[in-house]
Amino acid sequence: MNETFSRRVPLAGGTSIPQLGLGVFQVESGGTQQVVERALEIGYRHIDTAAAYVNEEGVGAAIHASGIPREEVFVTSKLRNGDQGYESALRAYADTCTRLGLERLDLYLIHWPNPAAGLWQDTWRALARLADQGEVAAVGVSNFMPEHLEELAQLSEVTPAVNQIELHPTYQQRELADHCRERGIAVQAYSPLGQAGDLEHPAITELAGRLDVSPAQVILRWHLDRGHVVIPKTVSPERMRSNADLDDVALSEADLAVLDGLDSGQRIGNDPYTFDKSQIR
Ligand code: NDP
Repeated sequence: MNETFSRRVPLAGGTSIPQLGLGVFQVESGGTQQVVERALEIGYRHIDTAAAYVNEEGVGAAIHASGIPREEVFVTSKLRNGDQGYESALRAYADTCTRLGLERLDLYLIHWPNPAAGLWQDTWRALARLADQGEVAAVGVSNFMPEHLEELAQLSEVTPAVNQIELHPTYQQRELADHCRERGIAVQAYSPLGQAGDLEHPAITELAGRLDVSPAQVILRWHLDRGHVVIPKTVSPERMRSNADLDDVALSEADLAVLDGLDSGQRIGNDPYTFDKSQIR
């Protein structure tokens, strides 16, 4: 029995999310079904996709082919920037459900705030309505900074279930993560391995060598112990297995402190204040 797969984090709104999931960003459309089927066989019960990844169909096909009861798989998707706005967000959610072949999602996120467009507020109203009407189990945001969350709290009584943000040992956004936790918003770490870059950090390889585990296992255990929901991406079944084989990876307080100390303040992804160009397909 893998305890890691059973770990869940409670969400605002009353549901909960498996703490470890599989991310499918940059998994090509044609190969997605197979990748997700393997993940489900291995024991993953949480898949993170997005309209912008252009692979929702493959995720949905894998879930259907697996025969696993729908309620046992937690599915997240995200609204792309080009679909922001009240009516367009409602339409985009319906289209996402159609592509996934699902009646409703477990979690639907605004992918980026794109503040220059000034549309995330109306978009959030649409998501809040979907949640109020039970058309989606939980709604949340991604790449929202503290001022966006402050403004959101003023305009809506629906608390985002999660804020999905770039978070890995060399980029920890601790102030933002604390801000979320204080407001009951679960912190979901994207690019949790630093898109593989953090695997080569000398402090992490040293710790992995000493504990006789992989660098990815060190990083993922740190995420679990720090309470982050985590969605590493891999297309390799071996890595899917080892990334979830964390029950016996024991980090001491001193080890955790080493990882806490690796923040360089350098993000690898896009800047939430300015990102607006892609995902407009
Ligand atoms: P990750 O930090 O998950 O790193 C993925 C990379 O690490 C891939 O190159 C993968 O290669 C490699 N890898 C995975 N496991 C191992 C391992 N055990 N050993 C060695 N290499 C490994 O980066 P992502 O950016 O993909 O983030 C994960 C997920 O977060 C995405 O899939 C997506 O769902 C989400 N995300 C959300 C964003 C947002 O704006 N909301 C932005 C970016 C990501 P390989 O596949 O070849 O194994």
